[in-house]
Amino acid sequence: MNNSMMDYLIAQLLILVFYIITLAVYNRARKEYVGGKIAAAINLIMIFLAILLLSDFVDYFFILILPRGQDTILILKIILRLIAACVLFFGGLRFFVSKPAAAGPVHQPASLKEVEVESERAVPEQNGDSPVELEDVSRIMPTLGRYEIIEQIGRGAMGIVYKGRDPKLHRLTAIKTIRFIDEFDEDQAEKVKEQFYREAEVVAKLSHSNIVTIYDVGEDLDLSYLAMEYLDGEGLDKYTKAGNLLPIRKCLDIISQVCDALEYAHKHDIVHRDIKPANIMLLKDGLIKVTDFGIARAVAGSKTRTGIIKGTPYYMSPEQTKGTKIAGPSDIFSLGVVFYQLLTGRLPFAGESLATITYQITTVDPEPPTKYNPKINKATLAILNQALEKSLEKRYQTAKQMGDHLRLVGQKLDDVRARASR
Ligand code: ATP
Repeated sequence: MNNSMMDYLIAQLLILVFYIITLAVYNRARKEYVGGKIAAAINLIMIFLAILLLSDFVDYFFILILPRGQDTILILKIILRLIAACVLFFGGLRFFVSKPAAAGPVHQPASLKEVEVESERAVPEQNGDSPVELEDVSRIMPTLGRYEIIEQIGRGAMGIVYKGRDPKLHRLTAIKTIRFIDEFDEDQAEKVKEQFYREAEVVAKLSHSNIVTIYDVGEDLDLSYLAMEYLDGEGLDKYTKAGNLLPIRKCLDIISQVCDALEYAHKHDIVHRDIKPANIMLLKDGLIKVTDFGIARAVAGSKTRTGIIKGTPYYMSPEQTKGTKIAGPSDIFSLGVVFYQLLTGRLPFAGESLATITYQITTVDPEPPTKYNPKINKATLAILNQALEKSLEKRYQTAKQMGDHLRLVGQKLDDVRARASR
């Protein structure tokens, strides 16, 4: 190969490298900042040109290793150009042929709309901002509103909870879904849904380190959803069974953090109404987050299609079972039930039927927790008993009082332990 040809080869090589870098940078920027069909079309044409460039480059490359392999070079060039034509043709087809949305029950991720489908139309944002395009033609993921669904993380009484991703803000979210029309009678469904949105709006204003942050509420087809902070941890229900109990010191810390969350919410006139282990998440760093604020109120008193009021009765306060007006101390009673369960691995008020459980809650004293866990100290016992007082007057009036007492006992236990280890 003579010198001028070598120069030409190097120049061509540099152009190709430069072009590939530009293509990579453009694609990255497209994913991060821009979307829409025009950006996708530019990307497609750029890929087409890159393959054409590559096919031209074949001449020089093969002359070096196959000086007389003209046929091979020709075949390779034809193959590369065919690939370029296919990329342009099939890539272009995506702009004109839309994939039909999968049918079936929307509760399954497979039946949620896919990003590819979303990309065909502009989706108005829930907050009423200008429409956005959920364009990312390179991936196919089910979506709910603007959120991409990654996987199912759990199922509650009202619907499925998914782990999702917000493609606009690039953050993980937990998306709780409720299909009101399936859960409630037609005349109730609209009412409960409206109440749900109203409650979510109020709860979204709560800002506390021990309360899960609500990002967004919305509706996709007839599936309502609540997008919230994704919590990397586990529900306390994991630690309510004998054989898998947490140390008492840890329980004191957990319950005192829940007290902080309740004190803050109660001060903002919000009563949780459904405090139970599954609604308290223990994160990997030991932080506690209370979830589901407001949901219980949204559905309170509304009969479901089956005629059953959803939710578990074991954590209800005496005033809740009677249907009288409830306030902060009701949550404190429910938290007392959770505390009892964490310490003993048993429910304080159990029974086969709703009537038996209600009777237990309103009139029967629970078994002494020390019967199941003799390690429980007197101070902890006193706090537990005051939280589980059936009489409103005798019960803790504020979550702060209970939290302060728990911290005091925790501190005393730490001091005793420190002295013992000296
Ligand atoms: P209910 O619907 O009666 O309140 P539940 O509290 O068990 O029942 P959900 O609140 O729907 O059900 O939660 C279902 C699952 O999703 C639970 O296992 C919970 O751990 C998980 N989960 C809920 N919220 C989040 C979140 N923000 N981040 C991560 N996981 C969550």
